[in-house]
Amino acid sequence: MPEFVGAVDQGTTSTRFMIFDHDGAEVAKYQLEHEQLLPKAGWVEHNPIEIWTVTAAVIQTTIQRAGLHAKDLAALGVTNQRETTVVWNRRTGRPYYNAIVWQDTRTDRIAAALEQNGRGEVIRDRTGLRPEAYFSGGKIQWILENVEGVRQDAERGEAVFGNTDTWTLWNLTGGVKGGVHITDVTNAARTMLMDLETLDWDDELLSFFGIPRRMLPEIRPSADPAMYGTTLPYGPVGGEVPISAILGDQQAATVGQVCFAPGEAKNTYGTGNFLLLNTGTDPVRSRSGLLTTPAYQFGDQPAVFALEGSIAVTGSAVQWLRDQLHVITSAEQSEALARQVDDSGGMYFVPAFSGLFAPYWRADARGVIVGLSRYNTDAHLARAALEAICYQSRDVVEAMQQDSGVVLDVLKVDGGVTSNDLCMQFQSDILGVPVSRPVVSETTALGAAYAAGLACGYWKDVSELRAHWAEDRRWEPRWSEDRREEAYAGWKKAVTRSFDWV
Ligand code: ADP
Repeated sequence: MPEFVGAVDQGTTSTRFMIFDHDGAEVAKYQLEHEQLLPKAGWVEHNPIEIWTVTAAVIQTTIQRAGLHAKDLAALGVTNQRETTVVWNRRTGRPYYNAIVWQDTRTDRIAAALEQNGRGEVIRDRTGLRPEAYFSGGKIQWILENVEGVRQDAERGEAVFGNTDTWTLWNLTGGVKGGVHITDVTNAARTMLMDLETLDWDDELLSFFGIPRRMLPEIRPSADPAMYGTTLPYGPVGGEVPISAILGDQQAATVGQVCFAPGEAKNTYGTGNFLLLNTGTDPVRSRSGLLTTPAYQFGDQPAVFALEGSIAVTGSAVQWLRDQLHVITSAEQSEALARQVDDSGGMYFVPAFSGLFAPYWRADARGVIVGLSRYNTDAHLARAALEAICYQSRDVVEAMQQDSGVVLDVLKVDGGVTSNDLCMQFQSDILGVPVSRPVVSETTALGAAYAAGLACGYWKDVSELRAHWAEDRRWEPRWSEDRREEAYAGWKKAVTRSFDWV
């Protein structure tokens, strides 16, 4: 058996390739950002060709820098930004349009129209989701309706859809020279087109969006001993390596954080935040604004489900301070700037740039900064941006506790923002619960590697993976109960000010 396992993490901000050893320790990694295309208010796109070029480059560079070869890799896993929609021509390999990113709100009207004729109820019931612009179904419909030639090509089976897992897999396994067209249950579940019970595409759901079934990839388990395919010998991996796992990024992080038992949860802080609670093999329906989604399906075992609190804008509010307002020059600098003040000076920043997701689901919301006085500075703004990440997480923790009765005794965290120690202290203060960060903070890539390794027998079972998890740092709450509740009440009030803008 080769010594290592690899994982491609095709994220919203960047793409990384990582190599792990048998102890789940990081051996090598390299990552590159890709451009965020913002053509109109509310629109967010990526160039799929750039995504594949960057993916190939990070794979090649990581393997070369580590002095390894394809033969050293037992298997590869793929994890990805979910919902982001690519439609391409299977004969030429050319995308018809840029990838429409999950945060893009152009399909708000398509989503709102789904509430008519009881279709909203069917979607909630059958998919565990809500009719929202966030998910892929409306984005595919938009491309079919607005990009010339796609509809005819889709009817003939020539225009195909994939999220970036499918796009990456298709290119890794051959592209126009015979790439496979496959996704896994965790990605398929985010389209509004898959039935949670059958784990298959559903014709009635497809009819809501006018999507021909021939466009869609085959749905397979997240870890598949049958393997989806092998990398091209002359591709970026430099040899034939089996690809045996696909997981949406949030589900991958759930696996990477070894949340294998019902009641175990993790919160990932990236472009947005995503809190997932393992609820076991039965899908639990939310009454509090959470989504029901598969966490993973390993081989022929039953799928395991999660309740999910999705927050659209957290780390990307920090990017906004950097790229749009220029108050910082790097995301890390937000910490030093926020540390210049002891509190946010009465200021709240609700970064509802794409409306508000869980638990509010308000497509009509837009960002607001409230409570300003002349006293406020850019340091208060940086602090308010970091606090907003944590208040939004408290909102979903409360919803999760209402739905499941599970009371967290500690919050396991990961993702880019968790390198911000001040923000993690806020999180503990605002929740009143300890926050714990693992040694391997790249849990998304790790989870995809775990699933790939389980599929090919590199690891024997999940108990072996559990033993790898180790804490790096823990933050304890420091605020008094009074301060916590007063601050949170201010946040709730600020949230109401973000409603009714579109
Ligand atoms: P994704 O997987 O969504 O691309 P990552 O986990 O790579 O996201 O995290 C990137 C996000 O984290 C960016 O939005 C960036 O602004 C934010 N970020 C990174 N480092 C910090 C930091 N030290 N403080 C605050 N935010 C940060």
